[in-house]
Amino acid sequence: MQFYSTNGQCRHASLEEAVMTGLAPDGGLYMPERIPVIPRAFFKNIGEMSVSDIAYIVATTALGDDIEASELKQIVLDTFSFDIPLRRVGADNIYALELFHGPTLAFKDVGARFLARIISHFSRPHHEEVNVLVATSGDSGGAVATGFHKVPGVRVFVLYPERGLSAMQRHQFTSLGDNVYPIEIMGNFDDCQRVVKEAFVDKELREMMHITSANSINVCRLIPQMFYYFYGYSQLLHLGNSVDDGAVISVPCGNLGNLTAGVLAKKMGLPVKRFVAANNANSTFADYLASGVFTPRPPRRTMACAMDVGNPSNFARIHDLYEGSHEAISHDMHGYSLSDEAIASEMRRVYESEGYIMDPHGASAYCALRRDLAPEETGIFMATAHPVKFAKTVEEVTGTCLKADVESVYPKNISEHHETPRITPSLPALKKFLLSAT
Ligand SMILES: *Cc1c(COP(=O)(O)O)cnc(C)c1O
Repeated sequence: MQFYSTNGQCRHASLEEAVMTGLAPDGGLYMPERIPVIPRAFFKNIGEMSVSDIAYIVATTALGDDIEASELKQIVLDTFSFDIPLRRVGADNIYALELFHGPTLAFKDVGARFLARIISHFSRPHHEEVNVLVATSGDSGGAVATGFHKVPGVRVFVLYPERGLSAMQRHQFTSLGDNVYPIEIMGNFDDCQRVVKEAFVDKELREMMHITSANSINVCRLIPQMFYYFYGYSQLLHLGNSVDDGAVISVPCGNLGNLTAGVLAKKMGLPVKRFVAANNANSTFADYLASGVFTPRPPRRTMACAMDVGNPSNFARIHDLYEGSHEAISHDMHGYSLSDEAIASEMRRVYESEGYIMDPHGASAYCALRRDLAPEETGIFMATAHPVKFAKTVEEVTGTCLKADVESVYPKNISEHHETPRITPSLPALKKFLLSAT
């Protein structure tokens, strides 16, 4: 499979180049040159298949020529080491696809685990350690660090701001050790991101060590996210639904990576009736769907904080997949912007009437789906984070106490805080640290 850049100003890249560089040299995002369609026969017995069987078939169809089958099979098995159940929520035809049973309790585990193994695969023949730099404001640090933990040939450096992370978020990458190096930056998240960007363009550093990025622009974080859309459909059939034209699928949107993966799955042949794009108060994409005008804005803080994105990076990919046609995009998906009040009131109502606890991100997708779904349709919403990951908000809104749930999914004492190095937010300080760690 070859990949082109959404900016169209550079030559095509192999999978290896696309993965190991992350961003195309012209600043665009990599896209597969061709989207292979899965034969219809596959869908006949998909209802009886496991997530890793489905993932393996979709992966070989998409990447078959680039990675040897047995290796790809192992990567898929290692990625999906946890279940992704589909649960009916209440009496309506609404189901939650629970993507949060992985090690860091959020759907980003899927992309991070797959990417880590693909990077390890491509770095092995070169006998050179790959150093992955990631700046985090909370969730992606844990997912990336856990995904890369103990993966041979790879070291991961997590840069995080001194303030703003919860104890649990910090614990997810400071407690691992081995090939995971947390670095506290004396500054805010923007400082972390700036230092990482400076490292990537520093010639001296690049000559001394192989560095790459594990953020969501990397196409190998996107590809594995297609797999669970197929698995959601499979479980819908398994539960006895007849949905020949597919379900309506609602996605809580931040950088639009998850939604882009859904669109790719549909283009590979998955029956999807339409998508629903749920924004929180950061409504850039919902506004685009309504008006045809894309206007990035600075992000605002909301209770669904992982979706606080004002300039979603994967918009370029969605735009590209529909050849820039707003008409085609808005035919395939409907957008909604949800206020914190709307999200909280549905979290409360669903808990009180159905006994189902949603986190604020999944709840945004649920709200949007309820508004969009016709009575005779079947809907799935992507539940992207475990409620205990946002325990404080969930407890405040619903009046429940999640302590027992926190302990069941998170047995370690999260107050223990490992000493991590602290550096000033500057490239010389980071370089000194990276070189001394080698
Ligand atoms: C990152 C994240 C999102 C947004 O996903 P995108 O792929 O960036 O659109 C939604 N929910 C949770 C819990 C997240 O961590």
